[in-house]
Amino acid sequence: MKDFKISIVTPFFNEAGSICSFFESIFRILDNQKFSYEIICIDDGSSDQTLENLKKFAIGNKNIKIISLSRNFGKEYALTAGIDAAQGDAVIPIDADLQDPPELIPLMVDEWLKGFPVVLAKRASRITDTKFKRGTAHFFYKIINVLSDVSIPENTGDFRLMDRQVVDILKQLPERTRFMKGLFAWVGFEQATVYYDRQDRRDGQTKWNVWKLWNFALDGIFSFSTSPIRIWTYLGLTIALSAGLYGSFIILKTLVYGISAPGYASLACLILFFSGINLVGIGLLGEYIGRIFMETKCRPLYIIKEKIGFQDET
Ligand code: UDP
Ligand code: MG
Repeated sequence: MKDFKISIVTPFFNEAGSICSFFESIFRILDNQKFSYEIICIDDGSSDQTLENLKKFAIGNKNIKIISLSRNFGKEYALTAGIDAAQGDAVIPIDADLQDPPELIPLMVDEWLKGFPVVLAKRASRITDTKFKRGTAHFFYKIINVLSDVSIPENTGDFRLMDRQVVDILKQLPERTRFMKGLFAWVGFEQATVYYDRQDRRDGQTKWNVWKLWNFALDGIFSFSTSPIRIWTYLGLTIALSAGLYGSFIILKTLVYGISAPGYASLACLILFFSGINLVGIGLLGEYIGRIFMETKCRPLYIIKEKIGFQDET
């Protein structure tokens, strides 16, 4: 009899080619451990053989559970679905492409057993990432950690261990903009860290591109900070004050020297500059209003099409 259970939560989106090596590595690591485990695989609306391949592995293996979503909701929602369904004493989200090495799982469990409710897996290096990705990621963490009250650890993905207590709190967070790294950090609790070198993807391709990453970064910033709109109060005040001073200067100048016609260029520049500033302000407001709009709909975060291997369903 094993005394505790670990839930591995893995989102799969068009990962048909990675599934075999994923399970091989996971079984190799987890089958000789002192704990029992479940692997919750979420098929995030894949259009390839992912679901079929997952089902093949699930036959006769009661440790594998499958949740199939009705369409592609995105990694954050797939993860949420998996975390909601996990029953273990601790939960570990891990990618399907083996970029998060399963060898780390026993080390994370050891730290957890020492009493840390959260164990982060931190990338010791990002050598497999391009210089551009490394640079922009670094810049993003700098910005978000300045703007937001929760501190989001750099070089840490979703790969981490969370105790049941932490997971239960996470499950109560109802928001639709699911920037998981931020939500994990928001929950808090004492953390331990283990380090690893991030490998290249074993198979298939990354699902991210620059545009998606940009929007992901905006989601992170706008869901964890109101500073971007609050800045406008101060910016507005500064501009109004400068305008007042400049206005007084012009009035005085006119009184002393009389009316002079030139000034078209400076006028045009000022109008263009301030309309630009106005539009940026409206755009920023829009970012928040758009998110409020999505939240008010209270739509479910994900829709489950099929569940396989769960006790109550089979
Ligand atoms: N993923 C997902 N839904 C998506 C995109 C990705 O479930 O819409 C999964 C994907 O199958 C993988 C994990 O999220 O298990 C990480 O994706 P990826 O390797 O593309 O991201 P990267 O490692 O490049 O950040
Ligand atoms: Mg990956």
